[in-house]
Amino acid sequence: MPARDGDRVVTEVLVIGSGAGGATIARTLAELGHDVLILEEGHRVPNARYGGSPADAFSTFYRNRGMTPIMGPIPIGFVEGACVGGSTEVNSGFWHRTPAETLIRWNAVYGMEDVGPDAMEPHFAWAEEALGVGPFEGVLPPSTQVFQRGAQAMGWASKEVPRTAPGCRESNVCAMGCPTGAKQGMSARMLPAAEAHGARLLSSCRVEAILHKDGRATGVLAVMRDRTREGGRSKDAMSWVRIEAEHVFVCAGPTQTPALLRQSGITFHVGNTLAIHPMLKVAARFPEPMDADRHVLPLLQVREFLPEITLGGAFFSPGHLAMLLADGGPDSLDTMLEARHMATYYVAVRGTGTGTVRPSLLRNGGARLRYTMSSSELENLGRGMARLSLLLLRAGALEVYPGIVGAPVIRTEKEAGRSLDGRLDRSRVAATTVHAFSSCPSGEARERCAADSWGRVYGFENLRVADASILPDSPGVNPQGSIMALARRNALHFHDAAA
Ligand SMILES: Cc1cc2nc3c(=O)[nH]c(=O)nc-3n(C[C@H](O)[C@H](O)[C@H](O)COP(=O)(O)OP(=O)(O)OC[C@H]3O[C@@H](n4cnc5c(N)ncnc54)[C@H](O)[C@@H]3O)c2cc1C
Repeated sequence: MPARDGDRVVTEVLVIGSGAGGATIARTLAELGHDVLILEEGHRVPNARYGGSPADAFSTFYRNRGMTPIMGPIPIGFVEGACVGGSTEVNSGFWHRTPAETLIRWNAVYGMEDVGPDAMEPHFAWAEEALGVGPFEGVLPPSTQVFQRGAQAMGWASKEVPRTAPGCRESNVCAMGCPTGAKQGMSARMLPAAEAHGARLLSSCRVEAILHKDGRATGVLAVMRDRTREGGRSKDAMSWVRIEAEHVFVCAGPTQTPALLRQSGITFHVGNTLAIHPMLKVAARFPEPMDADRHVLPLLQVREFLPEITLGGAFFSPGHLAMLLADGGPDSLDTMLEARHMATYYVAVRGTGTGTVRPSLLRNGGARLRYTMSSSELENLGRGMARLSLLLLRAGALEVYPGIVGAPVIRTEKEAGRSLDGRLDRSRVAATTVHAFSSCPSGEARERCAADSWGRVYGFENLRVADASILPDSPGVNPQGSIMALARRNALHFHDAAA
């Protein structure tokens, strides 16, 4: 194990990050016979810690304990994973192929080659087979049934979204790590398959700099953390390790990849185009019990307004509900007594604003994120919030609590309809997101892209990006499918070119 100062470690392919992109690259290349080393900043979380309390989960699985603000005129709460498996360990597992229209736009506007629906089909199919993507196998829970009822009453097309959770047992703790192993985070099968083919995975190892010379990446400098216990207290011992590599794939996610590249002096179109799906959550109270904390999260999405607006179901826990209700002021908190009758939903919009990622000025490995919502995003959020409220009222909700600070509870269609013209008070929007991408866009259009169609960083022979960063712009649907399919395609292209 390369773990001490001064050790010299050499690998053919170095993969930085073990999330959706990194695990796909590692498995594909290891199976094709390449020598692969994965470096992952986060810890390998033992099975027993999956499905624990939210407080434990935030410190175990998430970056910055789940508190990463995106600054800007409207601040946005962002969370991402930082553990073996990355954000896939805590995501909800909803799976979409990239819409055909999006793929066509990526080709036409960014010059991304070989990305049409037909070309991408085998890569989606591979990932879906690997993760067991499919519909929920049990009875649809009450929070899904009412959502379906509301969508039908409004005459809007809705559909169950397949998930990466074959045999889901409705533990309802996706965001704290699936304790039954049904949800296919990358640590479940993808990374073990890579390791079975000889890939090595070093966890608790954060890359601090990519070393490069004359357009070639030569390796990385990383910090290893060894956690030891002394006198009942845990202590981190740190040591530097230098790793030499023939090829480097940066898969550190949409915020850390551009921060790391920039910190290493690689800046061409890097970190200038962060995109997100801004999201507003709502809670609804129904006459009948929902028992949302004992069921899988609502499984349907309204497709009527895609790709600009998505209405869907959100992860539920009493803690998450309390945070949402707190936006409505102290009076709303009494509603916690009705938690059994409540479920949470969201409106998400296709990001058309602009954001940046820069390394922290503290040089502590963090990233500074900024995002300015466009006026069309804000309008779509307002319109989406109004539509979601109408749907929930038609579904039988007695009250709808919007994720807007100080906003009154919505009880009638007239009250819900007030934002149908898209007006929202921007100073009160309590926006969040778990979907970020496009911080190193990929395509042949050099005037706007950081990497070529296959993720190779411009100006470098052997440095590639393969994670959410390379999505040229917002896909308008949950992004994991797009990330994995592109990573698979790029790994195969790399292999063919190397052969
Ligand atoms: C709560 C939540 C729910 C979500 N729900 C869904 C969903 O239902 N469907 C969907 O499609 N998407 C969902 N997503 C988003 C999806 O999980 C991410 O878009 C996807 O995992 C991003 O893949 P990635 O490879 O870019 O980054 P990640 O999967 O986040 O992996 C990046 C990895 O790199 C590591 N890393 C970072 N910096 C370094 C460094 N310097 N050195 C070493 N390692 C480093 C990180 O620790 C991390 O493990 C959700 C996300 C969250 C947080």
